[in-house]
Formats: sequence, C-alpha cells, structure tokens
Amino acid sequence: MEIFGYVVIGIVGALLLFMILRTVFTRPKKLETSDYVAQEINLEEVTAHLVGAIQYETITMSDNSQDGSKFLAYQEYLESIYPLTMARAEKTLINKYAVIYKVKGSDESLLPVAVLAHQDVVPADEDGWECEPFSGEIKDGYIYGRGSQDMKSQMIVALDGMETLLRSGKELKRTVLFCFGHDEELRGTEGASCISEHLLSQGVRLEYVIDEGGTILDGSIIGINKKIALIGTCEKGYADFKLEVEKDGGHSSTPRRKTSVNTLVSAINRIEKHPVRPTWVKPVKDMFKALAPYMNPAFKFVLVNRDIFSPILKPLLCLISPFTNCLMRTTSATTQLKGASTPNTLPGVASANVNCRINIDETVESTLAHLQKLAGKNVKISIEEGYINPSPVSDIDSNAYAMLEKTIKEVYSEFLVAPYPFIAASDAKYYYKLTNNVYRFTPFEKTVEDANRIHGLNERIEIAQLVAGTRFFVRLFENTCC
Ligand SMILES: [Zn+2]
Repeated sequence: MEIFGYVVIGIVGALLLFMILRTVFTRPKKLETSDYVAQEINLEEVTAHLVGAIQYETITMSDNSQDGSKFLAYQEYLESIYPLTMARAEKTLINKYAVIYKVKGSDESLLPVAVLAHQDVVPADEDGWECEPFSGEIKDGYIYGRGSQDMKSQMIVALDGMETLLRSGKELKRTVLFCFGHDEELRGTEGASCISEHLLSQGVRLEYVIDEGGTILDGSIIGINKKIALIGTCEKGYADFKLEVEKDGGHSSTPRRKTSVNTLVSAINRIEKHPVRPTWVKPVKDMFKALAPYMNPAFKFVLVNRDIFSPILKPLLCLISPFTNCLMRTTSATTQLKGASTPNTLPGVASANVNCRINIDETVESTLAHLQKLAGKNVKISIEEGYINPSPVSDIDSNAYAMLEKTIKEVYSEFLVAPYPFIAASDAKYYYKLTNNVYRFTPFEKTVEDANRIHGLNERIEIAQLVAGTRFFVRLFENTCC
C-alpha cells in the first residue's frame, strides 16, 4: 500500500512538472523588425468619401428582378471619387448589380488577390435615429448612417488605400480584384456567389481573399493586457429549423392534457437543456495557441495544458460568456412561436423556429438529427430554405496569412493577432473554390456599444478609425501586391 502511495505521488508530481515546464517554455514570438513608415492619410478626403457613400440608399432588394438602379448610381459615385484606381480598373457587372473592378498589376505571373465588400445595407427606420440614417451626418467625431460600419466604411478605406498607394507612385505588381456583391444581407446568392462562379469559369485562382469580419478585442477578458486582432478563418453554418406539432384543435374551455402547444414547448425545453456538446475545433485551438504565450500566468497554465484541463475547461468556456460559448459549439435559439390565431382556441398546429449556428465539425444534417432525437417523434422538423453548411477552414500556414498578420502588427503596433472562427456570415464563404486563403478582418476598433449598433439604431463609426483602416489597406497592398 505504501509503495502504491509513492507511485501515485510520483505520477502526479511528474505530470505537474510536465505541465509547469510546458507553461514556462511557451514564450511569445520574437518581434520581427519592420521598415514600416505610416502613410499620410488625407482624413478629410476619406471622411467625405464615406459620407457620400452613405447617402446612396442601397438597401438589399428582396429579389434581383427589382429596380436596382440605386446600385448602378452608387457605382458611378465610386468611379467618380477614385480617379487613379478607376483609370486602371476594368469593370465587369455580374448578375446586373454586383461588380468587379480589376486593377491590373504589372506581373501577370502572380495570382490576383480579391478584396471583398458588399454594397447593400439593411433598411433603417427613421424612428429613434439621432441623425437621418442616410444623411452621413457628422456629430461628435462620428459619421452616422446605415452602412457606416456594415460595411461601406471598409469598402471606402480599401479603395482609398489603393488610391493612396497609386498616388504615392508605388508599382502595383499583383492584380487586385475589388469584388462588391449587392445582397450579402440576404445571403449573397445573387451577388458574391455569382462573382465567385464567374471567376471560377474564367479559370481564376486567387492568392487570398479579404472580407469583413474578425474583430479587435480587449484582451483583459482572457487575462491579456493588450488588444487582440482576430482574423476569421472560417464561418459557422446557418440553419432555421421549423418544429411543428399537429393535434386536434378545439375550444379552450375543454382542454386535453397534451395539446399541440404542450408537446411543442416540452420539445423546445429539451432542446434548450441539452445543447450540442462543446468541442475543440481547429481555429479555436489555434486561437488559444497563438494567445497563450501572452496570458497572465494562471490563464497561461490552464490554456497551455488545455488537453489535460479539457473536461473542466470546455463547460467553463460555455458558461463564461455567450461569445466563448458560441466558439465552442453549435448554438440553437428559439426565435419564433406560433399557436392559435384567437385567444380561446386550441391550435391544431403549433410551430416554432429554431435558429442554429452550426459549428465547423458539424453539418446541417447532424444538427437536424440532434434536434429530432431531443424533440421526439411527435414533432415534425423541417429545414427552412437558405441554410448553409459551415465553411472550410482557411490555411494559417500560408504566406498570405503571415503577411496579413505582419500588416496588422505594423499598423497597430501593440496588437496581438490570432485566428478564430467567425460566428456570423459573410460573402467570403463563396470564395473557397478559388483559394484556401480566405480571411475576414475589419480594421476598425470599436466599443461593444458601437458594435451593437450594426443593423440597429444610430449606426456610426468614429472618424479617427478611418485613418487606421486606410493605412491597413495601403500596407496590405504594399506587403502583398507591390
Ligand atoms: Zn456586412
């Protein structure tokens, strides 16, 4: 018995030593030297460009047969404010309103890059806005308006970046394709999807794709005393599931014990109580691997030994915040419920919509199977139109990723950079046929409060952010296209 005790102490001691050594030898990467000199940016000009862009009410059309002349007028506007870029650009309209501006580089042996943005914006009711939503009004250092964040600002700083580069006299060697869809807010099937099909039919391969997404986070929530730039390397899937229960209806004065509503609500409760189990998908492992060296000792010890702490860590991350929860698993949210149309009727059919964001190791089908198993055989579940499986995961060992990381570190000198799974949807998912280097990064810092204004009231962007955003694109073009 005594020997057994010594053996156990020995094993635990060895394991602890192993974990401590692993932590000690996880060190930050050495800083690379850089010749970066920040470009002078004409803030007045880029501000005016964005204000003008917001004034075009390019609200997503519900179908492509509607009059989309507002998109063509918006393109004419872009063509008028970027003389150097547009003089070199070859324009191709795709499916009437999506557009590619091909800015040719001098070396045709280099694969082109694609800079994505969407021209469309979600609608904006004037009620509750401090400024008229399509005025682009400037107030207290902010530009207000629909699209000021999502995502005319990114389109404008990308084009201003190219214009600034060309103005500086630098030679553009690699071709840049500015690919602007017009229905991202409705799924991108008429815009981005058609652009990527067109490029595929032309035999185009891309060096990399950059689109909106990613974010700049305050690292303090995970024990890091720095800002963190997250690059989205994949997208979760999306599906709406319709749950329906059919039972005899009737008058509510003589209810049965199990009505269609009872059965439906019990099914929803089981779904909420038994979410899909959390897993470590590659982008999340890569994210923690990139950030662990910079964490405070306690966080670092746990994250470096993630495999050993996994049984505690996975449920803990699901509990800490909605953000870490959705990184770890497929999420489901009941968003709509329908019963009888009058208050004194037992509905013959009760239905609900469950919206799922599907983790990259799952599929729409596996999620359906999970829901059906929990809901039981009395609940009919169908998949609504518009579902999409999770995207592939982009390469982070590529030269393109390394250049993107370098660019961010140069422009925002104190930032850490890490990959992560993008939890919303973007046009970028349609481009995996053309390259495995599909990245999502939005080069603006914003408060959580301002980020919450996206698609909501009083969407706005701080004017000062346009300088860093334009510098980011100038430097990205210098690093990868010159
Ligand atoms: Zn967007």
